[in-house]
Amino acid sequence: MRVVSNLNELEALRSEWGNATVALVPTMGALHEGHGALCQLAKKSAQRVIVSIFVNPLQFGPNEDLERYPRPREEDLQRCQDWGMDAVFYPSVDVLYPTGMENSIKVLPPESLSNRLCGASRPGHFAGVATVVLKLFIALRPDYAVFGEKDAQQLFIIRHMVKDLLLPVALLAHPTVREIDGLALSSRNRYLQTPQERETALTLFRILTDAQTQMHESISPLPAAATLKAIAETRLAEAASSSPVAIQLQYLEAVEKETFQPAKTLHPGVKILIAAMVGSVRLIDNLDL
Ligand code: AMP
Repeated sequence: MRVVSNLNELEALRSEWGNATVALVPTMGALHEGHGALCQLAKKSAQRVIVSIFVNPLQFGPNEDLERYPRPREEDLQRCQDWGMDAVFYPSVDVLYPTGMENSIKVLPPESLSNRLCGASRPGHFAGVATVVLKLFIALRPDYAVFGEKDAQQLFIIRHMVKDLLLPVALLAHPTVREIDGLALSSRNRYLQTPQERETALTLFRILTDAQTQMHESISPLPAAATLKAIAETRLAEAASSSPVAIQLQYLEAVEKETFQPAKTLHPGVKILIAAMVGSVRLIDNLDL
């Protein structure tokens, strides 16, 4: 497996690969089996697969976990090797931001997509994501790029960007990979150190599956906002009474899958999205009804 860290090495690799089809799996590292599943989908779809590992400063807010975000380089490279990857692109910040972070040209997704849900508590986050993903597309020129449905709003915005900017890349999405009990795999799960923190983190999945169950069990359409509010109240109270770890909901919303606009009722075709602080760890999840 090749490990490249600058644009010259990348160009050399690109020309070695000639006309072979290339799939890119963009990540921030601290790799887990969720990333592994994306890598396998990439492998099935293209002749060469390259994983990028880059903790992108532009998508972190001033009070977020940029500094403490895990960067286990050797472990990550070993995983990519074990997954049969052809190459890893592991750039430093100045390779992707050659004119400096302050002077960077930014891709601004429409506010109607980027200021809601995760964007409401993370201003500028999706501009940071869209910018770095576009840079990776320009530098690597992949035929395919693979993203996880775990970051549903991110996936929606990247799809929008690819369509709007006429980018010559095909996007592939992989369903969320979960632990047996339902907890969505995430690099930030490493921060959940005690069994109580982990148990409290499961509240997100429980709220999502409660919504799914209630929709299936109801004969008439359930109003989205009121139903989700009631479910959250019950599950959050239960968590508070059974664990000392604080959980604070950031949002719980139903959107139409196709448009990402708020859904009035819970019905098939709706996606429920949730974000919460579990202690000091911010977790997100989502589920299709
Ligand atoms: P990250 O390293 O967190 O930026 O994630 C890199 C890619 O992996 C993104 O496309 C994520 O949506 C995807 N991903 C992260 N966790 C999961 C998971 N549990 N299941 C599927 N994809 C995931």
